[in-house]
Amino acid sequence: MTTPSVNIRTQTLEELELFFREHGEQRYRARQVYDWIWKKTARSFDQMTDISKATRELLKSHFTLNALEVYTTQRSEDKTIKMSFRLFDGHIIEGVLIPSGNRMTACISSQVGCNLACKFCATGMIRYIRNLHFEEIFDQVAIIQETALKEYGHPLSNIVYMGMGEPMLNYQNVLRSAEKISSPDSLGMSPQRITVSTVGIASMIRQLGNDKVRFNLALSLHSAINEKRNQIIPYNLRNSLEDLVEAVKHFHQQTHSRITIEYVMLKGFNDSITDARALADFCKNFPVKVNLIQYNPVENVPYEDSGPERTEAFRLFLEKLNMVVNVRRSRGKDIDAACGQLANKIIHQHKI
Ligand code: SAH
Repeated sequence: MTTPSVNIRTQTLEELELFFREHGEQRYRARQVYDWIWKKTARSFDQMTDISKATRELLKSHFTLNALEVYTTQRSEDKTIKMSFRLFDGHIIEGVLIPSGNRMTACISSQVGCNLACKFCATGMIRYIRNLHFEEIFDQVAIIQETALKEYGHPLSNIVYMGMGEPMLNYQNVLRSAEKISSPDSLGMSPQRITVSTVGIASMIRQLGNDKVRFNLALSLHSAINEKRNQIIPYNLRNSLEDLVEAVKHFHQQTHSRITIEYVMLKGFNDSITDARALADFCKNFPVKVNLIQYNPVENVPYEDSGPERTEAFRLFLEKLNMVVNVRRSRGKDIDAACGQLANKIIHQHKI
């Protein structure tokens, strides 16, 4: 028997109905299988226990599922859980479960590696390998959801595309995965609970507006001064802050949603009052919420976190201008699960 090459998760319900009809089986089987895949998030055909063994064998001989497998699980003192997953072709990615207050957040990856090479980010040090398929993005949510229920007795409340990779360079798969996560046919989570974070790819931000997406957009700004942003985010040379302002304005006009601005606090680099003023100017163009993010140190990287005092001064300056500002402390630092620390070690250890 040759190995099947069609991934069953690329099939629509109608295609599955046709498949069953062609194989002399009842049409309702298609709905049953479809629900196993998308509602009950089965990651093997043998999990589909109310489907006869013969039918499961029929499915196995025609389709693959290419599901993620949990590879490692690490628990932090602060209850954050980092998981690494093995993809069907052997590559490893990471996702994180972050419980905080009444929130259960899953932080998921969109690519294997990353080619943005942001100077402060550990993921930026590893090479880009490939985009994740939409069902691989979906599996991370399904597995982290199961972990949340098992370990803490609560389902996920939020999903953030802030793991490895740049979601806007894997546009179709990111949109399709978000659609699945929020579809009533599947996990049925509110799109307002999903946030996609981007380094700021102007053309794709415009596209998100044209597609009138219903999830939230976070922009990793980190400096509102072009010369400084160029130094830490090479992509800024491809589209400047001015291009970003226009793209985000368009996104806001189309979706009416508020933008989250992420700003990692780098000591002596982007944390002065001049920097805060530039940030405030940038944010005048659309409604925003600013997250000031504690910097997580990365090996062989010269940047340091600004520390509580400088961060507080920065926050107060923005708040005096009536801006909405949150200070985000790091989670899961002891297990390298914090922002920008993903995958480095595992990928190097296994030389993938
Ligand atoms: N490529 C996307 C999503 C992945 S990174 C993006 O750029 O938004 C998720 C967030 O973590 C980004 O805001 C990123 O700039 C930030 N980040 C990266 N390294 C970090 C570090 N060491 N400490 C704190 N935040 C970091």
